[in-house]
Amino acid sequence: MGQAYMIGTDIGTTSTKSVLFTTDGKLKAVHHIEYPLYSPTPATAEQDPEEIFAAVVGSIKQVMLESGVDPAQVKCVSFSSAMHSLIAVDGTGKPLTRCITWADSRSARWADIIKSEHDGHEIYLRTGTPIHPMSPLAKLLWLRNEESGLFGKADKFISIKEFVFHKLFGEYVVDHSIASATGLFNIHELDWDAGALKVAGIDPSKLSRLVPTRHIMTGLDETWAEHMGLPAAIPFVVGANDGVLSNLGVNAIEPGVVAVTIGTSGAIRTVTDKPRVDPKGRIFCYVLTEDMYVIGGPVNNGGMIFRWIRDQLGASEKETAQRIGRDPYDLLSDIAARVKPGSDGLIFHPFLSGERAPLWDSNARGSYFGLGLHHKKEHLIRAAMEGVILNLYTVFLALQELIGEPGKIQATGGFARSELWRQMMADIFNQEVHVPESVESSCLGAAILGLYAIGEADSLGVVSEMVGGTYRHEPIPRHTEIYQELTRIYIRVSRLLQDE
Ligand code: ADP
Repeated sequence: MGQAYMIGTDIGTTSTKSVLFTTDGKLKAVHHIEYPLYSPTPATAEQDPEEIFAAVVGSIKQVMLESGVDPAQVKCVSFSSAMHSLIAVDGTGKPLTRCITWADSRSARWADIIKSEHDGHEIYLRTGTPIHPMSPLAKLLWLRNEESGLFGKADKFISIKEFVFHKLFGEYVVDHSIASATGLFNIHELDWDAGALKVAGIDPSKLSRLVPTRHIMTGLDETWAEHMGLPAAIPFVVGANDGVLSNLGVNAIEPGVVAVTIGTSGAIRTVTDKPRVDPKGRIFCYVLTEDMYVIGGPVNNGGMIFRWIRDQLGASEKETAQRIGRDPYDLLSDIAARVKPGSDGLIFHPFLSGERAPLWDSNARGSYFGLGLHHKKEHLIRAAMEGVILNLYTVFLALQELIGEPGKIQATGGFARSELWRQMMADIFNQEVHVPESVESSCLGAAILGLYAIGEADSLGVVSEMVGGTYRHEPIPRHTEIYQELTRIYIRVSRLLQDE
């Protein structure tokens, strides 16, 4: 028998990406197709479900073409998808709304009402989804109250992944993982939550059939199968959400391993064997499988802070970088490295775009604290980089209250290109930081889950043979000492400023 393959497809907020891997995890072909975000008002963030569907089938078709592999050798296609999306469809499956994404905040007022009038905290404790405008629960309440005509006409309320599967297989199914990020799903019972559904004003018939993340769909529509270049009998695995699959794809599924990602935004996540929720409501809990749950927090202000620094303070570095053919971020990192840890007493709170974890306050704003005449531009740059890590560290402290001391940190995302930033993470977290080779972690996570679903892998642990490491950083004790002191001030000042 020849080489076998698997495809992982990740339906993201800016693009859909499909990756064809060998069944031992080597990347053979990758293709992504972007689509626009429609934002006619500042609070609106929608996408066209048909454009996303076209990107799904188009990207799968393209990896089949580019790799030239024999379709009979592809064992499965398995899916990752962004969380929290909502589409209202009519009885014929036609969308009545666009795909309302997590970033859409029109339901902000209704999230507040859930918190204050509907025992929001109790709902969070049952569902694991923080009460926030991102969640389909808040979006449903908003639709019901502000778009009641449309709400009444809807036959089903689905996510983008359900839309795609319905077009390919003619059935609405939703995996436990996507469901667990709706705010409507009881993570302790693995079923819809009657109380949350009551608040949303719907009954379970308005939602898709719940299936485990390993659920296999067969009977692929022949026309689409031919379009993608796949046999119609190929198993499609429903898969999970992009957050939990990213943990799997970077090999952060063992107890005590924490995955920290800093791309444009950031997130910190770890796997537990049971659902866990935070009495203080700062942490999400989403399903990977029946015995693996991913808990953690998403932050808005990750790499976008460094981009802001580059754009607002780094004009001359940008120019120089262009002249000498270097990345402006590398030059800015070099400049920041001239300053000692702690930026000579300058502290930066990075809440430039409000904040989800740990504050869950969209009105939060950033600040520099402790400015003196001795501070130069390099201090402003370094303090901003430190602020991003300190913020994630406070989320990590909340996580630690639930899981205890972790063993190691797997760090991924654009920030990991900076050696200074990676070392800063080791120093601030006082933990060993590893950077796994995270090529397309959500796609790899989806593919591995698929392999497990079809019985070609004994456990999800096979990931450890597929993902190697590139860098390792140990905390430097004298840096850690400074940062521990700074952390206390950072948290105190953040609390003091919250009311303002
Ligand atoms: P996305 O979230 O869009 O997938 P990435 O993971 O590519 O984004 O991360 C983009 C962010 O990574 C940028 O905003 C920037 O802060 C950071 N970044 C990119 N390149 C570098 C670099 N060379 N050094 C430090 N940070 C970088």
